[in-house]
Amino acid sequence: MSESSLRVVWVYPDLLSTYGDQGNALVVERRARQRRLSVSRIDVRSDQAVPTSGDIYLIGGGEDRPQRLAAERLRRDGGLSRAVGNGAIVFSVCAGYQILGHEFINDLGEREPGLGLLDVVSTRGDGERCVGDVLADIDPQLRLPQLTGFENHQGITHLGPTARPFARVHLGRGNGTGDGTEGAYNDTVFGTYMHGPVLARNPGIADLLLKLALDVNALPPADDRWYEALRAERIAAAQQPA
Ligand code: GLN
Repeated sequence: MSESSLRVVWVYPDLLSTYGDQGNALVVERRARQRRLSVSRIDVRSDQAVPTSGDIYLIGGGEDRPQRLAAERLRRDGGLSRAVGNGAIVFSVCAGYQILGHEFINDLGEREPGLGLLDVVSTRGDGERCVGDVLADIDPQLRLPQLTGFENHQGITHLGPTARPFARVHLGRGNGTGDGTEGAYNDTVFGTYMHGPVLARNPGIADLLLKLALDVNALPPADDRWYEALRAERIAAAQQPA
């Protein structure tokens, strides 16, 4: 981590913040401040260079055309890939998740190269769009509570041999391959199909990002009552028959 302050970089809010993705940056900042950590946030628009000195990078979801533009600009810029090479932590959502993989299908129906920071390949599902509530068990190695969220994607993501599934679904489609996996991670790079401000429902993931950035095993406890109330409400709603 950089000496003075934890640096949270929110990548391309002008292209990839269609679904309230700023919430993830707000939650990471808040969870850091609750632990009296100094934190600064850098919002990087797509006409700006991605700084390589960040600690935690957040990249959100978006529609198909902005997703292609974001992939083109991130490939050309190279900053995010260099940051990961330096050990940065990345948390990506939906379109951002697909961009971090080797390739995805763009709005023109063509194979678009991603950044190859995750060992995944996304194709376009020919069935119904994956839309709805999700409940999933996060990889036990990460020691996190059940994942709750909402998905909305046409893409299907296949994991390569080095990617680990982030979670396994009880409810919902996740990666959409039918094998029950949801999201993926390679070392410090994470991807999920859980939409928008997923960290607001799952603050344990924000804490995981902070722990990785600080290289510590534990953080002082934070007040989780508000998050727990939201989680309980959403889990109950998700389990109700449609
Ligand atoms: N365009 C991608 C898909 O539909 C991602 C959509 C999203 O970010 N919600 O698969």
